[in-house]
Amino acid sequence: MTSAERQTALDAIAAEVRACTKCRLAATRTQAVPGEGSADTEVVFVGEGPGFHEDRQGRPFVGRAGDLLVKLLGSIEWRREDVFITNVVKCRPPDNRDPEPDEVAACAPYLQRQIETLDPALVVTLGRHSMARFVPGARISQVHGTTQRVDPATGARDATVLAMYHPAAALRTPAIERESYDDIGRAPRALLDARERRAPSPARRAEAVETVEAVAVSDLEVIAAAAGDVTETASADLTIF
Ligand code: SF4
Repeated sequence: MTSAERQTALDAIAAEVRACTKCRLAATRTQAVPGEGSADTEVVFVGEGPGFHEDRQGRPFVGRAGDLLVKLLGSIEWRREDVFITNVVKCRPPDNRDPEPDEVAACAPYLQRQIETLDPALVVTLGRHSMARFVPGARISQVHGTTQRVDPATGARDATVLAMYHPAAALRTPAIERESYDDIGRAPRALLDARERRAPSPARRAEAVETVEAVAVSDLEVIAAAAGDVTETASADLTIF
């Protein structure tokens, strides 16, 4: 799948989400919040569900929790536009209550399709409902800041999951905020390890080769001098951080 095809697929999922009435949350939402970010990213952040501001704007993580997420990303020199950010449920539960199991189940195919489309190397879960989809049966107090392989049944072909607290919890509790900075600090290493472990999918490999062919020879010489060979150049071109 090319970058343009991934973007088209993500746009199609978003259009379905905005029109979705598969669960009761459709009746109380202002806008559905499909998610947003780079179609070329290797990293997907998954929160629990939209809050007040997200419901009004139709965008994920735009309130105070979003501000903190941007700060957490900034602490490792990542930017929100370079990752993809979405939620387990795409519509706001009334009064920010926890999503019900049947709501999570109804919404799950959208998240699965987003992840299948993006084929990330790293999934970062924000909060226990998100963690439960990728690390079933775990307690967030025990697994935050740790990584595991993701079950491909989630849609992630070959990914590592890093569990974190939800930024809203970090806003309420200074100790959790401090731990969240420690946890996000493990993300770059987790991404590097995941890249090293996983083989590029045939589609990504073909795309990388096309990209390399399009790069001017002089550029290749500079990159190759730094990276060692053309294979390294291909993966460097997909590097976002
Ligand atoms: S939460 Fe998900 S399943 Fe429920 S109406 Fe919104 S998009 Fe549809």
